[in-house]
Amino acid sequence: MELKHEFKNAWEVERENNKIEEVMSYSKEYMNFLDHGKTERTSAREIVKIAKVNGYISIEEAIEKGKVSAGEKIYAVNKDKAVAMFVMGKNKLEKGMKVIGGHIDVPRIDLKPNPLYQEANLGFFKTHYYGGIKKYQWTATPLAIHGVVILNDGKKVDICIGEDPSDPVFCITDLLVHLAGDQMQKKLADGITGEGLNILIGHIPLEGEEKEPIEQNILKILNEKYGMVEEDFLSAEIEVVPAGKARDLGFDRSMVLAYGHDDRVCSYGAVKAVIETENPEYCAVVLCVDKEEVGSQGNTGMHSKFFENTVAELIALEGDYCDLKIRRSMAKSKVLSADVSAGYDPNFPDVYEKRNSAYMGHGIVLSKYTGSRGKSGCNDANAEFTAEVRRIFNNSGVVWQTAELGKVDQGGGGTIAYILANYGAEVIDCGVGVLNMHAPYEIVSKVDIYEMYKGYKAFFNLNI
Ligand code: MN
Ligand code: MN
Repeated sequence: MELKHEFKNAWEVERENNKIEEVMSYSKEYMNFLDHGKTERTSAREIVKIAKVNGYISIEEAIEKGKVSAGEKIYAVNKDKAVAMFVMGKNKLEKGMKVIGGHIDVPRIDLKPNPLYQEANLGFFKTHYYGGIKKYQWTATPLAIHGVVILNDGKKVDICIGEDPSDPVFCITDLLVHLAGDQMQKKLADGITGEGLNILIGHIPLEGEEKEPIEQNILKILNEKYGMVEEDFLSAEIEVVPAGKARDLGFDRSMVLAYGHDDRVCSYGAVKAVIETENPEYCAVVLCVDKEEVGSQGNTGMHSKFFENTVAELIALEGDYCDLKIRRSMAKSKVLSADVSAGYDPNFPDVYEKRNSAYMGHGIVLSKYTGSRGKSGCNDANAEFTAEVRRIFNNSGVVWQTAELGKVDQGGGGTIAYILANYGAEVIDCGVGVLNMHAPYEIVSKVDIYEMYKGYKAFFNLNI
C-alpha cells in the first residue's frame, strides 16, 4: 500500500504503455476538428457530421420511428448552435444517465448590428466582444470572419473568409510604440477599449462614387460574393476569430497552440468517447452547449430546456411517458462537467497555489469545486461522487490530477456544473489544464487531452 500520493507524469505513463503514437494521432484528429469548427455553429455542424458517420440518427427520425431501444444512437441539434448525443442504455432513462457536458462557444469579437463605416480612407467594422477577453491581445493579429446572414428573402448564407491561405484576413490596429507614451502608462485593461476594437476591412474607393466610396466598394464585394446588402447586417450573426489553423507547439510537438481549446477540447474528447461507447449500462450522453462564456442563458445555453425536453422525448419513445420519469432521470444522473482548468504557468507563479494546481502533463483534471472567494457560486461535488470518479480513473489507468482555479481570493470562475446539479444530479468539473486561456491562441498538452478522452470513455463504460 502506498501511503504517500504523488501525481504522475502522463508522458512517462503512456511511454511505458507504448501509446505515444496514439497520443499524437488523437491530437491530429482533434486539430482537424478545431480547424473546421471555429464557431459554435460550425462546431455543432462538425459534431453532427461525426455523429452521422458513426450511425447516429436524429431525434426527429427517432420520433418518426416511434420508439427507441437499448444501444440505439441519437443526436439532437438545438438551433444550429448546440448538440446532444445519446447512446441508449440497457437501463431505462428513469434509472439515470451518464452525462458529459461541455461548451462550444468561445470568446470572440462579434460585429455590431450596424458595423460598417469609413474614416481617413479606411473601411472598418464596429464590434462588440463576446466573453471574457484581454482586449489588447486581439490587436495586430490576423483575423477571420465567420457567420450567418439571413437575406431579406429569408435565404440563409454562411460567411467564412480568412481561413483559406488564399483568402484575405482582417486586423484590429494598435498604436505604434513611438507614439504610445500615454497608452503605455495606462492599466493593461484600458490600453485598448471595447469601442477601440474596430476591424480594418478595406481601402479602395468605388469608382465614380462620392459618398462613402470605400464602404460602397466593400458592400459591392459582399454583394457579389454573398448576395447581401447593408441592411442584412442588422439581422446577421457575424463573428471574428483568429485566422488560421491549429499548430503543433514545441520542438517535440508535445502541445497544441490553437484558438478555442476552451472548450472545444473537452467537447471533442466527450464526442470521441461517446462514439466509441457501445451498449452502455446507463444512457451515455454528450452535451455540447452554447453561451457558456456569457452565463449559459438563452435558448441555446445550458439553462435552456433543450436537454430536459430531449430527455422527455426519449422517455416518451421508451413508452409509458410520465413527467416523474424525467425528474428521476435527471436527478439520478452522474455528470462530468467537461471544461478546462487553468494550467500552472511558471511565468506567473503568484496567482497559483502550487500544491493545488493543474500541471501540464499530469493528465485529466478533477476540480471538486470552482467559484470565487469563499467558494461563492460554486458547484461543490460530493465526496462520494468524487471518489467514484477517482475509482473509475484508477481502475482504467487514466492519469489524473486535482486542481483549484488559482489561489484563494485571486479570482475564480465557473462552468455549467451547477445547472445540472440543480436537478439533483451528481456533478463534478473534469477537463484539462490550458495555458493562455481566453487568449486568441491557447495551449494544451497532447498527453493531457489524450488522458481526458481516456477518462471520459472510462466514465461511460465503467460502473463502480
Ligand atoms: Mn470553458
Ligand atoms: Mn472560458
